Amino acid sequence: MATMIIESERTKAASGKTYEVRNPATGEVVDEVPFGDVADVDRAAQAAAKAFTTWSRLAPNKRAEILHKAARNMLAKVEEIAPILTKEQGKTLLESRLEAQRFGENIAWFADLADKVHGEHVALPDTTTYGLVVRRPIGVCGAIVPWNFPLTLAANKVAPAIAAGNTVVLKPASTTPLATLACIEALIEGGLPEGVVNVVLGPATGDAIVGHPLIRKIALTGSTPTGRKVMARAADALKKVTLELGGSDPCIVLDDADLEAAARAISVGRFFNCGQACLAVKRLYVQEAAYAPLMEKLLARASKLKPGNGLDKDSRMGPMHTETQRAEVEAQVKDAVDRGAKVLYGGGRPKGAEYEKGWFIEPAILENVPDGARMWTEEVFGPALPVRKIKDLDEGLRLANDSQFGLGSSIWTGNMAAARRAVSELEAGYTWVNALQIAHDELPFGGTKQSGFGKEHGVEAFLQYTEEKSVVYGGV
Ligand code: NAD
Repeated sequence: MATMIIESERTKAASGKTYEVRNPATGEVVDEVPFGDVADVDRAAQAAAKAFTTWSRLAPNKRAEILHKAARNMLAKVEEIAPILTKEQGKTLLESRLEAQRFGENIAWFADLADKVHGEHVALPDTTTYGLVVRRPIGVCGAIVPWNFPLTLAANKVAPAIAAGNTVVLKPASTTPLATLACIEALIEGGLPEGVVNVVLGPATGDAIVGHPLIRKIALTGSTPTGRKVMARAADALKKVTLELGGSDPCIVLDDADLEAAARAISVGRFFNCGQACLAVKRLYVQEAAYAPLMEKLLARASKLKPGNGLDKDSRMGPMHTETQRAEVEAQVKDAVDRGAKVLYGGGRPKGAEYEKGWFIEPAILENVPDGARMWTEEVFGPALPVRKIKDLDEGLRLANDSQFGLGSSIWTGNMAAARRAVSELEAGYTWVNALQIAHDELPFGGTKQSGFGKEHGVEAFLQYTEEKSVVYGGV
């Protein structure tokens, strides 16, 4: 049975309660885990607060050295960790390997910043004084993570937090705790001091983290409704919050685009991780002359995405993570069809004995989806793509911005003026121009509008795990 990680203890829930983690491809139990609650979060927060007193005072270059060593140890275990992630989440082994690799690389990337980011000297009018702006870690930080990219999204929070000298109480999604535990265990085995990152499990621990008085900052990746609740609760104690929430990223393809490259990026952007990604091509707007050739290429790509158990090397798309998630996507597709949309590809469940016990779904591409359909107005968190013909860039930009969300966006065109306009007018935290929608460690990532605020990745994320303090030295 898996346990929580609280300081040097590998511990059950104080209540003794447990729950099962199941494989979305087979329904089999993968492991039993503690069902933690407020009492466990309290122990974890106390442990993190204690560890903060030593971790935050370490010389930053020493912190960097420890984190690099810990990351190397974790990266040596990617092949062990990837199948655990596939079993609990459903994604293919290839996707799990990439994700586990990204976890270690992210720790190393932020370790490099530990002794590089600094404050500044400010000249003051009285020359017998001088001013400084120093950067200090915040304290204990709460990290709350969803199930779609359990490792990447944990690392996005843990890595900048601990590199900057903070300590963490981490809550994975209830259905995907196991690979996260393995990664944190590997960091500790590689030299990360006990108590710097503590892991609590169970659905109730998220709210307990947000409400705990010792926890000073909350970073949540999750749905927009959860973001609203977390922000409201965090307001009671005026905690800092970073909210990475839902998205419905538009992609505009103009007539002069490289359609082969666009089709590849759209297919990866929509169907990677069985479409369960926040940054994903979720609404496609294609100019008239490019429409037919692009659809032909996209359909050919979708037909190669064989669904299957992620552990099977022939699978190109794992199952959806839960029955509820699959039902939601199916309802969104049905809503579009009921309103008159045409299914160009897929849209059902794959047939065969191997699919009966899991939450499998076919990739789907739909056209003529009418305005107001759920696929345009809601986030589609699965492998289904609505496509619409547009006359020109004006229409594309108007439709792209007609959304409550503002996470990612992309445009494919050979015209640099069109690209420049899209970059300045698309309402989103990220715009890819003729490029695959993947988030880079180097670039700050985060949304606008109902997709949240605050940044992960980049120097900006590191800075958001520090507080500035002004200092005046007199009599000098
Ligand atoms: P969710 O909001 O249901 O849960 C996310 C996490 O928050 C889980 O760990 C959950 O237990 C916890 N949680 C739920 N209610 C809480 C509360 N009241 N207080 C504190 N914690 C609480 O989301 P999900 O279904 O696990 O994930 C899918 C959603 O996440 C999608 O909307 C997706 O777009 C979004 N997402 C966003 C990003 C991004 O970076 N913007 C990345 C990935 C996923």
